[in-house]
Formats: sequence, C-alpha cells, structure tokens
Amino acid sequence: MARSDTCPACTGHVQDPSTERPPHWLLPRPFCVAHKRTALLPTGERLEAALDAASREAGFPVEGSGLSYVLNPVSIGGKWIGWVDFAASGSAVYETVFSSTTWAEFLAQHTRDGVELLYTLDALTLTGPQAVEPPATHVLASRMLWNWQFEIAVRQQLHARGIQVARSLVEAVAILGDADRVLEIARDMADINAGRVTAKELPKKIATDAQLAAASALPDPLGPEGGEECMRWLQALARRRFAHIAKAGG
Ligand SMILES: [Zn+2]
Repeated sequence: MARSDTCPACTGHVQDPSTERPPHWLLPRPFCVAHKRTALLPTGERLEAALDAASREAGFPVEGSGLSYVLNPVSIGGKWIGWVDFAASGSAVYETVFSSTTWAEFLAQHTRDGVELLYTLDALTLTGPQAVEPPATHVLASRMLWNWQFEIAVRQQLHARGIQVARSLVEAVAILGDADRVLEIARDMADINAGRVTAKELPKKIATDAQLAAASALPDPLGPEGGEECMRWLQALARRRFAHIAKAGG
C-alpha cells in the first residue's frame, strides 16, 4: 500500500487537539484512497460495496450529502473512526480530531464555519487576547441550525423503525426520503404558525399521519423553544470543542 504523508492511518496518528492555536484551526485530514476503500459501515458492510449494490438496485447512483447523516461514523482498518462526506462529487472519509457522536456534531466541530461559530460562542466567556472578533455569526449559525434540525429528523426516522443505524443502504435512502418530507412539512407548519403564509397559499402535499406527527414533534430552530434547545446544543459543543484551550483567568 502506497503510504500517504497526510492519511491518519498511513501516518499512524490523528491530529492532537492540544496543538491547536486559535485562530489556526485543526481541520480534519482525509484518509488516503487505499484506506478509504477499507471503510466499514456500522453494520459491518463495506461502504464502497454497499454503495455499488444500492446504486445497481436503484438504477441510478446513490449519492448526496444527506447520506452522511445515516452512514456515519465509519470504521477504517478496524482502528480508526472516520466520517464520510458526500458533499462534493464523490466522497472522502475524514479523521475524527474532536470526538463526535453525529454528523451534525462532526460538522460543527471540524468545518471552518462551524468552528468559528463555536469559538465565538465559547469566546463570550473569554477575556483578553484570546477574545476574537465575531464572524458573521448569523450566517454561520443558520447553517448549523438546519444541520441540527436535519439530524433530529433522521433520528426520528431511525427511532420510528426501532433501530439505531440503517440496516442497509436501501433503508438509509428511505430514511432520508422520509426525513426530507417531514422537514418540508415542519417548515410549512412553522411558516403558517408565524403568519408568513396561509395554508391556502402552499401547494398541497401528500403526507402520512406518521409524517404529520413527526413534523409536529420536530423542534423549529427559529422558534423560541427550538431556538433555545439548539443554542444549548451549540454551547455544550463549544465547551467540549475548546476544552483543550486554557481560559484566560480561568
Ligand atoms: Zn492511508
């Protein structure tokens, strides 16, 4: 196997959080192509083989960024926890630098936008030279809000099926389809409740009772309760993400 200077498995280590010096964030490194091929899904199935089989069955390539919510984390070489990102054309598997339990958590802690938002939240408790100028917080926050809500919509679907992870890629695609539909309904409901539109103005959507119930139960990150819940999630993540940085005066 050709060794890569940046692949965590080839180099034998992941990056050490304690070496981070804000605002130079530690961003995750991708595993090399050879190690990426060894990625196993939580079911023990090989990721690459599962994608090929599901695409053959569907008759079109199974892809899209939503898959990251149902297929992560993956295992590399039986030793490393990786996160597969389908956002670009194709996919990459990234190392875990800051422990994460869900894709939304991974994104918030390992992407520049997410880290800057979390750092701003954490910096509210900092003083002195470590305090930073807030970035365009609302823009960064809105992306994290939707990631948070989508993650909950996916968890709802897993829970409704009585499972913790999708048992197959075909099931994963079905879960994403249901989660997408529930989100659409939930956002329509939020728009109607906030008086932004009337029910009559929206195109009629066909939904099952289960989808309607799930949509009613989905927290709205722009509403007062959902907003607070989402903020608590972000603040807890921020504390964890920057636990390695000594607080001024703390
Ligand atoms: Zn490698």
